[in-house]
Amino acid sequence: MSRPNRVVRPVHFEDFDGKDFERLVFALALRSGRWRSLEWYGEVGADLGRDIWGEKEENGETVCIQCANWKRLTAEKAKADIRKILKAPRGAPDILVIAAGGTVSATARDAIKGYAAAQGIEQCHVWSGVDLEERIRFYAESLLRRFCDGEQFPDDPKAIESFSRGVACPLCDPARAEAVERVRVLERGKRSDLATKAFYAKRDAIRRDFANRGLSGSGGQLAQIIDAKREATQKGLEGLVAAGTELAEGCCDEHRNSVLQRTEEDVRASCRAALDSSASWIRDHMRRAHLGDGAASSAVASERSKIAGMERFTLRDLELAELHMRSSRE
Ligand SMILES: [Zn+2]
Repeated sequence: MSRPNRVVRPVHFEDFDGKDFERLVFALALRSGRWRSLEWYGEVGADLGRDIWGEKEENGETVCIQCANWKRLTAEKAKADIRKILKAPRGAPDILVIAAGGTVSATARDAIKGYAAAQGIEQCHVWSGVDLEERIRFYAESLLRRFCDGEQFPDDPKAIESFSRGVACPLCDPARAEAVERVRVLERGKRSDLATKAFYAKRDAIRRDFANRGLSGSGGQLAQIIDAKREATQKGLEGLVAAGTELAEGCCDEHRNSVLQRTEEDVRASCRAALDSSASWIRDHMRRAHLGDGAASSAVASERSKIAGMERFTLRDLELAELHMRSSRE
């Protein structure tokens, strides 16, 4: 690796508090490996002696990263951490990394590695502040710069994930998430008003047409109105899917999944509401025309199967959009 020709000042990790240090190490881990899972335990991890726990994507090996931002890491401190890790529910990891912010003497390093091996931990790496800095510069230079410039790293692991990837998920930022939700509700209301207006206009046109032909109140008129209702619902479903997938595209994995799931629920709810409303129109009409419950039930059943088909196709579109999103990210 050729280094840029400029003065690189050493990072003073000792100026950062324990949490900031852990955030930085977590961001480094995210950037430097591919993981099936990678979790930062923050506050809750301290008692169990593991700050970051991951599972490698390629082979499922478990990795425990213990952060020790000590000016001078002692073997005793590291051994105490290792004892805690072994006592925790997950037990020994395949790989243990002790990430120190300060110096680690050669003697301490050997003692720590020897102790880990004796406890059945196959691989143990001890990074001094210099080693850590080297890694961060290699994998995550831009993060280090932001970190040293005093930029506040997010608190939440998911937010650190998108932050460290340079992709800002709108839902990871609480203020933006709130704005997104407000816009979503407004848009939904606006769309549904427009759809309702369009449907009423169409319904009135159908009624006028039948009245002109002297056929008002006939089953044919009802059938056309119900079709128009279904078309309006279909348009609404398309709008839901478009808005949901557009939002999901810009989100982190977790929020993408939750947005898609919510969209799916909205689709199902819309279809249920559409059926309820059509069914009551149908029953009403049948009652007024003295057509009996049997005719009403079979007309409702037929409408139910049409709406179920619409729901199925819409959910398939959503699934295809999701597959497309996945493949374009990998
Ligand atoms: Zn997110």
